[in-house]
Amino acid sequence: MGDDGPMHDDTPEAARPHPAVPTSAPSTASARIDLAAFTGNIAAIQRHVDAAVMVVLKADAYGHGLQRCRVAARDAGVEWIGVAGVGEANACREAGDTGRLFAWMYGEDEDLTVPVGHDIDLGVHRVEQLHRIVAAAGDSGRTARVHLKIDTGLSRNGAPADKWAELCAEAAAAEASGAVEVVGIWSHLISSDDLSLPWTDRQLDAFDNALAVAAEHGVTPQLRHIANSAAALQVPRAHHDLVRLGIAAYGVDPGEGVAAAAGVELTPVMTLRAQLLNVKTIAAGSVVSYGAAWQADRDTVVGLVPLGYADGVPRHASNIASVRINGRIVPIRGRVCMDQFVVDLGPGATDVPGDEVVLFGAGGPSAEDWARDCGTIGYEIVTRIGTRVPREYPAAAHAGSEESLQQKENR
Ligand SMILES: *Cc1c(COP(=O)(O)O)cnc(C)c1O
Repeated sequence: MGDDGPMHDDTPEAARPHPAVPTSAPSTASARIDLAAFTGNIAAIQRHVDAAVMVVLKADAYGHGLQRCRVAARDAGVEWIGVAGVGEANACREAGDTGRLFAWMYGEDEDLTVPVGHDIDLGVHRVEQLHRIVAAAGDSGRTARVHLKIDTGLSRNGAPADKWAELCAEAAAAEASGAVEVVGIWSHLISSDDLSLPWTDRQLDAFDNALAVAAEHGVTPQLRHIANSAAALQVPRAHHDLVRLGIAAYGVDPGEGVAAAAGVELTPVMTLRAQLLNVKTIAAGSVVSYGAAWQADRDTVVGLVPLGYADGVPRHASNIASVRINGRIVPIRGRVCMDQFVVDLGPGATDVPGDEVVLFGAGGPSAEDWARDCGTIGYEIVTRIGTRVPREYPAAAHAGSEESLQQKENR
């Protein structure tokens, strides 16, 4: 501005950057994230395994906030952080992270000179990917760090057994040329939460075979890793050199009773809560919410909760999941709407607008309870909480971290 007079922007409005849509005041609804519980869960798993722990922060740290969780993990001494997408790893590095970062998903057009230049470890499962990484290493003048992935049965993106020897041979040649360092060999489990199924043992056998084939081709990396949270908890044979810890770090059990059977106590990290926005008495025979999916069989008091499926509250929770209010567990009645739902507070209830409603988290109900009610897994319950819900990081939950966070993110 200044001497040139008022600025005129010829860019069509639709093409201009717009400020983010504001969320509600955190007092209305928020997800409270207990970072002390997060680092406490990581420490509990670390005590349980004789291996390094990689904390998985994909999907915005399963909905808990990538950068805040990253800094908390690093402050707690976590050496390895894993994410799915290369973009997530780049974002960590660009926020100032200096530790080990591992990413395993990238598209055919992804510019790999960025992650290679950022010294990010990359998963590789096809020879063509290896060639792209070798080229990126040449362009950025550094040795790329790779982890070769074998498909031991999940049928996602590991190398199939019949392509494994070729991938190993190419990787050994690329290592000899100085273009790459093969840091790891890895795979991913199908059903480590349910050991009544045969897959885990079969996969661990296949993994051992893949390691032997790699060794025959001169590939003997320092890190062999296949365990996720459930395997970290209950499959010692899967631990190898490193476990990739996701859901359990967030205090959600990877399977019914898995953490308890392992003797590991997990603390929920996310508490989803809101203010009660309205309270009123409805007469017997009144219907509640779209489609009249619930009808009061008595006079009762209902309350309005300002969270809906746009915020990640599953519509499958309609008429089935429960929330906590003033020490009572009360049911959702009628359909969950886009922005709100109704609970039955019960005849004569004295709750008032402004009272706190806890959907899940510390003190229960739990994300696992919601998962059971909605026919899904705890992973989905926490990860799907939407961007409209502000994340709060109460100071007491991560004492004294505020300053160090600022410093790190500005570095
Ligand atoms: C998400 C993910 C993990 C973490 O799994 P949890 O069950 O959440 O512990 C580990 N490895 C890979 C490849 C993943 O995609």
